[in-house]
Amino acid sequence: MSGLDIQAIRKDFPILDQEIYGFPLAYLDNAATSQKPVQVIDAVADYYREDNANVHRGVHRLSQRATDAYEGARSKVRDFVSAQSDKEIVFVRGATEAINLVAHSFVRPMLHAGDEILISHMEHHANIVPWQMLCDQVGAKLVVIPMTEKGELDLTTFDDLLTSKTKIMAVGQVSNALGTINPVKMMTEKAHAKGIPVLIDGAQAVPHMPADVQDLDCDFYVFSGHKMFAPTGIGALYGKQAILEEMVPWQGGGDMILSVSFEKTLYNELPYKFEAGTPNISGAIGLGAAIDYMQSVGIAELAAYEHELLMYATAQVGGLEGLRIIGTSDQKASVLSFMIDGVHPHDVGTIFDQQGVAIRTGHHCAQPVMQFFGIPATARASFAFYNTMDEVDALVGAIQKVQELFA
Ligand code: PLP
Repeated sequence: MSGLDIQAIRKDFPILDQEIYGFPLAYLDNAATSQKPVQVIDAVADYYREDNANVHRGVHRLSQRATDAYEGARSKVRDFVSAQSDKEIVFVRGATEAINLVAHSFVRPMLHAGDEILISHMEHHANIVPWQMLCDQVGAKLVVIPMTEKGELDLTTFDDLLTSKTKIMAVGQVSNALGTINPVKMMTEKAHAKGIPVLIDGAQAVPHMPADVQDLDCDFYVFSGHKMFAPTGIGALYGKQAILEEMVPWQGGGDMILSVSFEKTLYNELPYKFEAGTPNISGAIGLGAAIDYMQSVGIAELAAYEHELLMYATAQVGGLEGLRIIGTSDQKASVLSFMIDGVHPHDVGTIFDQQGVAIRTGHHCAQPVMQFFGIPATARASFAFYNTMDEVDALVGAIQKVQELFA
């Protein structure tokens, strides 16, 4: 068993200590968004109580403190993903905005009719729709790496999908609908061998495992803060410095310029050239605090504990009759998607809620995955390191309750 003191950790997350319909809350919807520890809540509140000012522009003390805290958070993100320089970290709203930024600033200027963009069948809509929109604009083609019944990428034809027409490969590290951990390092190596740049969507990976962009050697890495115990509305885009230097800004406005005249605007240096307008200062500070918190728990330790949780949940839920687990790869993180025979997942979610068990039901913004399995939706439990084996037992009890009601 893991050495983490889960009860002590849970005390840092005040929201977990409540009852729903008289049952202790079992919050198992972490893939949608995670809960926030007091350390993050306090960091945001302290900023507003003591330091609130706009960044980068002021000579007064508060502005300097706000700027130091904001830029300090950037350094924490750089360290968290093992990037080489703070210049490689752009604050954005989240994974969605980061992907759109890369689509518009990096891919759009070089995309022509007949070119290809390679994604996989198990992407979140955030890593499908921006590329599809670009393809529609210029007459390029979206090419999709297929998947198997286990919910793994089918890489048998992968080499053939990487062609001279491929302008970028954009793949998720961990599937939000299935939990599958994809072999993104190997895939990146193969793409690079053919000169194809790579974006990795780390939104479902960073809350559960160490991130190392230099080891992955990806050109871009994106994630959202709110899935890793930080506030909503903040996330990061990592990009290799040499590539970011060459890219044109996506959005124009204040802070992303060095000088403006009606004749010409000179853009600011990295990473500010991609941060137009007043940024989410408190969100960035909260993200920095979330990174501190995860590192104080220990990312390898929390990953190991979550693996135990997922193994236990898979064995318990998988042992039940009349139920099908969707996504059965050996390489999984955090997510247990399932269907109870004869019951629509939305009914499952509602009955679970009446027992205090919060899960997500629906297509999880991954409709092509649902189409692959020929189902409209799944019920999805997703874990974080503050979840307990007792909560897994509550999940199993809730499933049995549904089965009794629909017997
Ligand atoms: N990518 C994956 C794998 C996700 O799970 C999500 C959100 O669920 C996103 C991207 C989009 O994240 P956000 O909505 O925070 O931008």
